[in-house]
Amino acid sequence: MNKSKITIAVDGYAACGKSTLAKALAKVLNYVYVDSGAMYRAVTLYFLDNNIDIQDAQMIDSAIGEIDIHFEIIDGKNHTFLNGKNVEKEIRTLRVSDFVSPVATISAVRRALVKLQQEMGSKGGIAMDGRDIGTVVFKDAELKLFLTASIEERSRRRMLEWESKGMMEGINKEEVAENLKKRDHIDSTRKDSPLCKAEDAIVIDNSNLTPEEQLSYSLDLAKKIIEKKLTGVVKEL
Ligand code: C5P
Repeated sequence: MNKSKITIAVDGYAACGKSTLAKALAKVLNYVYVDSGAMYRAVTLYFLDNNIDIQDAQMIDSAIGEIDIHFEIIDGKNHTFLNGKNVEKEIRTLRVSDFVSPVATISAVRRALVKLQQEMGSKGGIAMDGRDIGTVVFKDAELKLFLTASIEERSRRRMLEWESKGMMEGINKEEVAENLKKRDHIDSTRKDSPLCKAEDAIVIDNSNLTPEEQLSYSLDLAKKIIEKKLTGVVKEL
């Protein structure tokens, strides 16, 4: 483990800019970036395409054994691969978005993905975003951020993102907001590792922050922690 490298956990509600922040932090610090939500989305796509009944524990167990997920950087962008196929675009559709939270309530799915995530971060030097990163996956992460923003702002951002990717065809504004609200509800109320702020996480409400402002604030926090790790001198956060 590299002594100067820390683990950064970014959690929060749907479409809060978690991946934008975690990705940017990883880039500046030269860390690995992992989008844990993409992993739950890839499992969901597999379940949908293979008609896996999410009430059937045996079916789920054998399906999990057949799933391989990995990431590749293509033209500077993170791409998710499911059993060797690039599914980056497919996992972002409303079809997957509408089914991912129920799939993420399944403990067997969570156990398998958390194990994989912990292996990815075993050497430190990682920024991972999700819902349970600071509370379950990396309980000892040196920096934990918990992002939040108003539902209006989050829906607006998600719509702009989907419009820019040509993914809004046949979908209206209300459906986008509904999906975010529904996922937040299921994610925060599920029994196994619900979405909640880790006690030692720092909350950032980014409703009125630009991505650059959010990055600069978070980077300052990260640099102070890294410096403390290297020198033992504590600077106020
Ligand atoms: O981050 P993203 O919005 O792509 O995540 C999709 C869904 O995956 C979330 O709504 C949640 O149900 C699930 N998820 C989770 N735990 C994580 C990351 C994502 O339950 N660490």
